[in-house]
Amino acid sequence: MSLVTRVYETSKLQPNKAAYHFMGKDTSYAEFDQSVSMFATALQGAGVEKGDHVAFLLGNTPHFLISLYATMRIGATAIPINPIYSPDEISYILHNSDAKVVIALDPLLPLVEKAAAMFPSIEHYIICEMSAEVREKIAVLPERAKAKVQLFSQLITKGRPDFAPIDIDENETAIILYTSGTTGHPKGAMLTHKNIYSNARDVSDYLGFSEDDKVVATLPVFHVFALTVVVNAPLLKGATILLVPRFSPAEVFDTIRTEKATVFAAVPTMYNFMYQYPKGKLSDFDTVRLSISGGSSLPVALLHNFEEKFNVRVSEGYGLSEASPVTCFNPLDRERVPGSIGTNIVNVVNKVVDEFGEEVGVNEVGELVVQGPNVMKGYYKMPEETAAAIRDGWLYTGDLARQDEDGYFYIVDRKKDMIIVGGYNVYPREVEEVLFTHRAIVEAAVVGVPDPDFGEEVQAFVVLKEGAEVTEAQLQQFCEKRLAKYKVPKVIDFLDELPKNTTGKILRRSLKDYVKQ
Ligand code: AMP
Repeated sequence: MSLVTRVYETSKLQPNKAAYHFMGKDTSYAEFDQSVSMFATALQGAGVEKGDHVAFLLGNTPHFLISLYATMRIGATAIPINPIYSPDEISYILHNSDAKVVIALDPLLPLVEKAAAMFPSIEHYIICEMSAEVREKIAVLPERAKAKVQLFSQLITKGRPDFAPIDIDENETAIILYTSGTTGHPKGAMLTHKNIYSNARDVSDYLGFSEDDKVVATLPVFHVFALTVVVNAPLLKGATILLVPRFSPAEVFDTIRTEKATVFAAVPTMYNFMYQYPKGKLSDFDTVRLSISGGSSLPVALLHNFEEKFNVRVSEGYGLSEASPVTCFNPLDRERVPGSIGTNIVNVVNKVVDEFGEEVGVNEVGELVVQGPNVMKGYYKMPEETAAAIRDGWLYTGDLARQDEDGYFYIVDRKKDMIIVGGYNVYPREVEEVLFTHRAIVEAAVVGVPDPDFGEEVQAFVVLKEGAEVTEAQLQQFCEKRLAKYKVPKVIDFLDELPKNTTGKILRRSLKDYVKQ
């Protein structure tokens, strides 16, 4: 059983139900299935075969959904890439992933031109039209690039509407996801059909997804959180995806209200923007039965503020690309625990281990390791990195965590972000949580900086609410009342905004570079 066959069956069972909603229009499961079939066979017609690699440089539009399911339907491997990565990052991934085809939004035509010169092995560039001038832009491309370019809208018409998914071995790679990579180049996590099917199934069962759900897709769909939670899981259950091409609080509130969304999923930064949005009101989340947070830690103060403002329960979960991604979630049938990522989801086991791989005691901090059908096959063409990440059948997440007596897990911080001040461990998150409770603060991030006396010192960066005034000394006093002295930031910088990646994760590394400079 694979995701692609299950979604195919869903299309036959409920052809008239909306699979997705985009720009004011519903597309039924039958129409979606037909587009997938046509694009799949058009790809075959262009020479794409089982096992070939198809890279996507796409955002939250139907092109992504159709391309993903068409690629999987013919047994090829999909490689979703963040379209706003720098040209160098994209080039690295195109090269490393051995892509044969690239499907891209038309603003990326300049990059296509460059790639056509650099990578002769890429046979086709399929361009999704977002603007009227795309044809003129293609006409002026150098011959080498032009010969390989086709329009998505034209290519799809060459396909057949009645093509069923081919037989696929569940251990074949369905998707390669390049993880943000904290050091060096990104690594391509190979997720098999079994990985992505099991995680979509287990998450949707755990969170009670059904065909009655309408799920807001404002998280970027090329990221693993969105891919499983707001794309694959809803399609598996016959629910409707509400595509929001670009995140903005106004757009999200509008979508929830007009489409009567039932499930909302976002990263903490989005929760923060929505909480701060001046026009947000109590009734805005009236139709939402489930509000999900993941991707990075949700500050407890923000969780409480958001829940109170919108009268909705927010459930936090945890995952990583290498685990397709979800491993933990706050269960729906028990009280959600603020600050916790919840308990093991169905079929997945998490445990906290010491440096020898031995499980530690209750509430002791160690590295979180994971086992389950969702754990990747390995990193593409990187056997050493794979062997370092998967040891004795457990995936080492690089995150420090603890588990309480009721089985709830808590992410303490990334292992590499831990700060050591004169021999004492400081987890940036505990300091950020305190800063977040201050009324004047909208965003906070904490990093370790070199210190001649203590090895490292704590430095904080904060963004203040509009019009709010507070001094560094006042904030330090505030922290002193709540934290051990060595954890109090020695320096607090006031910024207009914090550097973040496209999935809303605060880039602590950029802040460290900023300090260095
Ligand atoms: P990615 O592979 O891009 O999804 O990033 C995975 C990483 O995001 C994990 O290893 C964690 O460091 C972080 N992460 C995801 N969810 C959470 C969460 N709920 N709390 C804290 N960190 C999280």
